[in-house]
Amino acid sequence: MSSFKGKTVVITGAGMGLGLATAKVIAQKGGNLSLVDYNEKALEDAKAELKAIAPDSKVLTIVADTSNEEAVKNYVDKTVAEFGTIDGFYNNAGIEGKQAPLVEYDIDVFKKVIDINLLGVYYGLRYIIPVMQKNGGGKIVNVASVGGIRGVVNQMPYVASKHAVSGMTKNAAIEYGKDNIFTNAIAPGAILTPMVAGAFKQVNPSDPAAAEKEYAQRNPTRRLGKPEEVGHLVAFLLSDECQYVNGQTIAIDGGESNLY
Ligand code: NAD
Repeated sequence: MSSFKGKTVVITGAGMGLGLATAKVIAQKGGNLSLVDYNEKALEDAKAELKAIAPDSKVLTIVADTSNEEAVKNYVDKTVAEFGTIDGFYNNAGIEGKQAPLVEYDIDVFKKVIDINLLGVYYGLRYIIPVMQKNGGGKIVNVASVGGIRGVVNQMPYVASKHAVSGMTKNAAIEYGKDNIFTNAIAPGAILTPMVAGAFKQVNPSDPAAAEKEYAQRNPTRRLGKPEEVGHLVAFLLSDECQYVNGQTIAIDGGESNLY
């Protein structure tokens, strides 16, 4: 994969997990990074980690909640002011919500999941696409989930929001392909990040490691995914080598979504 030298990539939810893993790959390939997260401490730790592995990388950090439209407009403006334009966008910030049966689901948590996972992703597209149009094109990767392809027991709002991400990806692709903007989504299975560790705690509070082991046994590969594996896929989708792929939701799940 060629270098990201001279290119600017915005990553939301960059403080840890899949956002940070992708930031590491892009930093090592020489790209400028604009990292967005609402967890200020995580963001600062992420920046320090990136500087340690790629001392020459230019890293801007912006504390923002992606479910707040003004804050999104602001992170886009700040990035353009710092780097001039935006070439790649990893629209990644998302939450799982609490696990509960559909009829018992807490409506406030439901709305929060939709605000972040659906509207937050939409706001990012709304404000970054015009920058890319001016720039003559760009690459966008939204984050759906295997829960954006299939149902997941006790995770109704998460599944609804991630199906929406897949739908918004198709629309962005068909509306802005003419502007040389390619929009795709990834659908990770269980990748061992702080979010997934939290989910195993919800499934089995007294023995999360047992829940993790049991889950891994169901995967065709008998293991969970690693954040850096997702980072390499996202970097490819944002790179110059990836052309003419548009509107797809690409699973990275060890094949799990093919299981009957
Ligand atoms: P994580 O919880 O480990 O990290 C998410 C990061 O996003 C955190 O730093 C958090 O502070 C930040 N964040 C969350 N909401 C935010 C908001 N509104 N504004 C700003 N920052 C916010 O999660 P992860 O596992 O790295 O997941 C990243 C994305 O990948 C999410 O959209 C998630 O739904 C999706 N995903 C993850 C998995 C997986 O197995 N890890 C599987 C499928 C999809």
